[in-house]
Amino acid sequence: MIYFILFLKIAVEITILWWVIYAILLFIKGTRAAQLLKGLIVVVILFFAAERLGLTAVSWILTKVLAISVLAFLIIFQPEIRRALARIGQFGIFTAKEQIVDEIVKAVMWFAERKIGAIIAIEREVGLGSYIESGVQLDSKVNSELLTTLFSPSTPLHDGGVIIQLDRIAAAGCLFPLAQDSHVARHLGTRHRAAIGLAEETDAIVVVVSEETGAVSVGVRGKLTRDLSKDALTKVLTNLLYRQRQR
Ligand code: ATP
Ligand code: MG
Repeated sequence: MIYFILFLKIAVEITILWWVIYAILLFIKGTRAAQLLKGLIVVVILFFAAERLGLTAVSWILTKVLAISVLAFLIIFQPEIRRALARIGQFGIFTAKEQIVDEIVKAVMWFAERKIGAIIAIEREVGLGSYIESGVQLDSKVNSELLTTLFSPSTPLHDGGVIIQLDRIAAAGCLFPLAQDSHVARHLGTRHRAAIGLAEETDAIVVVVSEETGAVSVGVRGKLTRDLSKDALTKVLTNLLYRQRQR
């Protein structure tokens, strides 16, 4: 009996640890943090090696380097850490989610009516930090007026995509990865390929409005669903964002 409880304890502990590490890796994948983490791991390995070999001077220096890098990590990644904590305590923005969907749908329908090209990515579990860095960072509340302004033709930021993180417009003018030619319909242009590409590389939801036809499409998990109506778009976005919330 005692052994069984002990075993259960270990199993629970390993599961939690595995889940935490997995969540962290998913969150920082492809961001600056990933690079720094790699450096940090190298320093830690060197530190243990130096300890083992009895290189006291080297291990002393590495202790200092580690201490400083932890501090540097906290300072440099303050925005990411804040976002991660906000995500853990996401309860606060539960009510705001419906409103965010409304604002996005409003803007998207405005583009569709006027045949203004747009591409908006909504972050879910996988961090979009590296794509945010490719554009101009904004950090503003999600509202349809700003979204419509951002994609107005012949303005500096209309080229490229907008990224939404939680309840904020994180950046505009971002460059998304293009989908591979082989499995994407030949007649699709770069905007739609970018939507599929980002939906392939991450779990983001990507909404696209075609400049040529005004058609609204949504890319999720590498697939593009085309010609959505206003109601269909609302339904898709609500479903995808709420399902994430329930997990
Ligand atoms: P549309 O139906 O609107 O014409 P399309 O799929 O035919 O879309 P293009 O006509 O090539 O695509 O659209 C070009 C625009 O798409 C660019 O001006 C730019 O704003 C956007 N775009 C192109 N590539 C990317 C990318 N990698 N990431 C984000 N946006 C992109
Ligand atoms: Mg085109």
